[in-house]
This record gives sequence, structure tokens and C-alpha cells, in this order.
Amino acid sequence: MFKGILIEKDDAGYRAAVKEIDEAQLPEGDVTVRVERSSLNYKDGLAITGKGPVVRKFPMVPGIDIAGTVEASDNPDYKVGDRVVLNGWGVGETHWGGLAQKARLKGDWLVPLPDAFTAQQAVAIGTAGYTAMLCVLALEKHGVKPADGEIVVTGAAGGVGSVAIAVLSKLGYTVVAVSGRPEEADYLKQLGASEVLERSAFSAPGKPLGKERWAGAVDVVGSHTLANICATTRYRGVVTACGLAGGMDLPASVAPFILRGVTLVGIDSVMCPRPERLVAWQRLARDLDPAKLGLLTHEVSLAEAIPTAAELMDGKVRGRVVVDVNR
Ligand code: NDP
Repeated sequence: MFKGILIEKDDAGYRAAVKEIDEAQLPEGDVTVRVERSSLNYKDGLAITGKGPVVRKFPMVPGIDIAGTVEASDNPDYKVGDRVVLNGWGVGETHWGGLAQKARLKGDWLVPLPDAFTAQQAVAIGTAGYTAMLCVLALEKHGVKPADGEIVVTGAAGGVGSVAIAVLSKLGYTVVAVSGRPEEADYLKQLGASEVLERSAFSAPGKPLGKERWAGAVDVVGSHTLANICATTRYRGVVTACGLAGGMDLPASVAPFILRGVTLVGIDSVMCPRPERLVAWQRLARDLDPAKLGLLTHEVSLAEAIPTAAELMDGKVRGRVVVDVNR
């Protein structure tokens, strides 16, 4: 038996609770991992609270991030004792995830834990941080350089936003944070933001084009915020879109794209091919200051993860939440 959060949905309703789970119930897979830490991402918040249709099979163990040690393996690439990390691939949605003491997974989904990180640090980065790095890599790939001007980061005090600010500022970019929490301004500046702007300045319907300001953007909010950012991005600037914290719609015009040559890049972490994941993790090892990672992370127990997921959905959680599944 092992401990884990189990999400159930039946005539009694939708609910998540810490349960004792029989190992025989673990799903199919060629690698069994003793989980050390998992984390809470926006998607885990949706899954645990039931606020979004993330879980596709019941019962489900949530947790889209896993860091731990291989306990058993039928996969030639992994042996007992290997330290591994996993992000996405539908884990915690269609396949049992990391918010439990054990997980059985496909070896192809795993990435060796970079030597630079402990298990705690790997999930402190987690899907949110690795997605932030995919956004940074996309900005670089499309030629955005620190000298080109300001990079705007929305949902700044959340997980993706916090890591994006820390990485971009270390790389020498001037970062402008957009947040709905003015009380987090000092935190955002400590992470490396040069200025903090109020969320409400971006969230109302805007004009097709505005004054050019941003050389690049990392947007986790979507909806009017993403439309307004595209409308105020400089000639040939690059906007990376990875989230929907403010809505799934995109009420925009084509004006920024056809008149200013703005590039809108979609970022997906879940099915991102393995070679790109490996690059993202190598770059995180190089370009994320561990002291800033400490600043943006706090840890909770497995049982505490359930109420914390509700706080995350209410936009009250700062940075990243690590879950110690053995506590
Ligand atoms: P968090 O909950 O940690 O952060 C989201 C932040 O968005 C909040 O902290 C808040 O920041 C802001 N926010 C919340 N609600 C609203 C709102 N109604 N309007 C405007 N801003 C809002 O989530 P994550 O950082 O883990 O994820 C952020 C987004 O990115 C989510 O939509 C998630 O689904 C998506 N995502 C996508 C991935 C992909 O592969 N494409 C991977 C990972 C995440 P503040 O208080 O500073 O304004």
C-alpha cells in the first residue's frame, strides 16, 4: 500500500482525498518510480478542485510533475536507483500522476534528473518552470535579444510567470511584470522585474493597435490580455502564448501580424518532443539562479496540497508549490 491523492467522480460527486492505495491498482508502465516530490501547477489545481475538465479517467491520481527514484524497470534506458523527472505527457490527466508515493510510467516519458538539481528543485521548477523556459527558447529562436527592448510577463506572481522573470533577467533582458497583486511588487522586483504593471491595464477590451512597447512577451493569461499585448508589441516583436488563466478566447485583430510583422508563438509543454525537453532542462540548469528558485518556492504536505489547490485557483498562491508526498 502507498499514500496518494485520489480523485473520484460518481453519484456522490467529484472529490479529492488522501487515500491508502493498493500497489496492484497502479496503471500499466515499464518503470515504477518511488516519488520524492511532486508539485501544484494550474492544471493540478483544476484537477483537484474539479474546476476544469482536466481529468479524463476516474479514479485518478493527479500530479503532472514527478521527481523520484526508479524502483523497478523493464526499460533498457532506466535501472533501479536512477533519479528521474517527468513533466506532462497526460500524467495526472489520463494516467496516474505524481501526487502519491508511487507512480508507474512509460520510460519514454522520463528525463534523467539533471545533476544540477535535487528532486525538490526539479519539481520547484516543474511543468511551470520548464514551460517558462520553452517560452524563453522561443523568444531566442525568433531572434529577440536583450538589447531589443522590454519583455512583458503576465500572470507574473504565478508559477510560469515567476520562473520566466528569474530566467529572463539573468539572461540580461529588461522584464516588465504584469500582476493583479500589487502586494507582490517587491517579490517580483527581487526576482528581477524592472517594473510592475497592474493587471487591469491589460484585461479590458483594447484597440487593434496601440503604442509599440514590447520586444517580446510571455503570456499566461490569454483573452484580452494577450490581444492587448499583441497590439502593443513592437515591429517584428515576438509574443509567446502558453496559458489561459484569464480565459481561453482571443479577441484580437490581425493588425499586429500584418502591419507590424509580430510573431505569435504557441507553447505546449505536455507533448513537447523529448530533445526539446532535454535542451530546456539543460538551459534551466544554466540560466536559473538557485537562490531565486528558493525565493519563489514553498513546500506543503500531501494533505495540505488539497486546500492549496483551491488557493491556487483563487490566484492566491505565489510562485511554485512543491508537494512532499512522503509527509
Ligand atoms: P498559477 O496559478 O501559478 O499562475 C497563474 C497566474 O495568472 C496567477 O498567479 C495570477 O498572477 C494570474 N491570473 C490568475 N487569474 C487571472 C485572471 N482571471 N486574469 C488575469 N490573470 C490571472 O498557474 P501556472 O503559472 O502554473 O500556469 C499559468 C497558465 O499557464 C495556466 O493557464 C496554465 O494552464 C498555463 N500553462 C500552460 C502550459 C502549456 O504547456 N501550455 C504549461 C504550464 C502552464 P498575478 O496574481 O500575478 O496576476
